[in-house]
Amino acid sequence: MVRKIITLGDETLRKISKPMPKFDLRLWLLLRDMADTMYKAEGVGLAAPQVGILRRVVVIDVGKGLIELVNPEIIATEGEQAGPEGCLSVPGRQGHVVRPNKVTVRAQDRKGKSFEITGEGLLARALCHEIDHLDGIVYVDKMDHEIFPEEEE
Ligand code: ZN
Repeated sequence: MVRKIITLGDETLRKISKPMPKFDLRLWLLLRDMADTMYKAEGVGLAAPQVGILRRVVVIDVGKGLIELVNPEIIATEGEQAGPEGCLSVPGRQGHVVRPNKVTVRAQDRKGKSFEITGEGLLARALCHEIDHLDGIVYVDKMDHEIFPEEEE
């Protein structure tokens, strides 16, 4: 089920999400809805607070399959990348944001099992961006400047 994505200005986006304590049907339905919502909006990631749920749950798909992260934590970063970034909660805008080029995250899967994932490039950017949402941080807080699209037509 596609849920409504809340946008910048809504206080919920600025709150700290709580850990997900239970790995049950309620979580699985949330994960399913978050994936549906992300794909419908053609995004590469979505965090639970963006659909109004203040829990530490993230979905990402940078074109290599769906990644579900419950209670994710960044445990290592390496290098730097600078580039454009957007957010489903900030429609129609893009900013220039510096992020680590490589990121390792520890998280739990939908059944509560711990695992680690390392991403580079776009995946590293998505991991940082979505985990920031769990702490009430939106990319506009970190961007050096707004990117204005070139005029079309
Ligand atoms: Zn976002």
